[in-house]
Amino acid sequence: MRRFDGKTLLVATHNAGKLEEFRQIMAPLGIKVTSAAEHDLPEPVETEDNFIGNARIKAHAAATATGLPALADDSGLEVAALNGAPGVYTADWAETPTGRDFAMAMEKTHAKLTERSAPQPWDARFCCTLVLAWPDGHDEVFEGYANGQLVWPIRGLVGHGYDPMFQPAGDTRTFAEMSADEKNALSHRGAAIKALLKGCFE
Ligand code: IMP
Repeated sequence: MRRFDGKTLLVATHNAGKLEEFRQIMAPLGIKVTSAAEHDLPEPVETEDNFIGNARIKAHAAATATGLPALADDSGLEVAALNGAPGVYTADWAETPTGRDFAMAMEKTHAKLTERSAPQPWDARFCCTLVLAWPDGHDEVFEGYANGQLVWPIRGLVGHGYDPMFQPAGDTRTFAEMSADEKNALSHRGAAIKALLKGCFE
C-alpha cells in the first residue's frame, strides 16, 4: 500500500457537500485540501457501470491534469426493493436542464417504491468508493457502506443529496437531522475515509 507523503491533496469533486465533508475529516491531519473547482478542472464523463470504475476515471483525470495526488469519491444509494437502483445513477436521477434537484430525485425514488407497492421498511444502503491516484498512474481503492432504510416524508434540513430520506440502521434520525460529526461517524463516506486514512495516511 502506498503512503501519501505530500502536503496538498486534491479532492476531485465538483460536489460542494462532499468537499466539505473531506475538508472536515482531513483538517486534523494538517493536510491542505484543494478542489477540482479551484483548479478549473472539467467534470469527466462517468462511463463505467460501477463505483470503482467511475472513481478511477475522476481520480486519474485530476492527478494527470494537476500533477497532484488526487482523491475521487464515487458514491450512491442502492435501494433493495428497486433492485439496487439508482446505484451509479444516483446523481443522474436528480438531473434537470437547470442543474441537480434532489427534492425531485427523492420524490422519484418514493414514487417508484409506491408504484411497486414495496413493503416497508425500505431497506437501502449508501455506498462510497474512494480512489487515491498519483500522477504516475498508481492508485489505491477503499470502500465504505451505510445500511439503513428510506423514510417518507423526508426529514431534516442539513446535509446534501438524499440525506433527508435516509435513516441509518440503529438510529431514529435521518442523516439530514444529524450534525456533520454524527453523520461522519455512521456514514459510508466516513467508513471509506477511515480505511483510506489507515491505509495511506497513518
Ligand atoms: P457521484 O458520486 O458524484 O456520481 O454522485 C453520487 C450521488 O449520490 C450524489 O450526487 C448524491 O446524490 C448521492 N450521495 C452520495 N453520498 C451521499 C450522502 O452522503 N448523502 C446524500 N446523498 C449522497
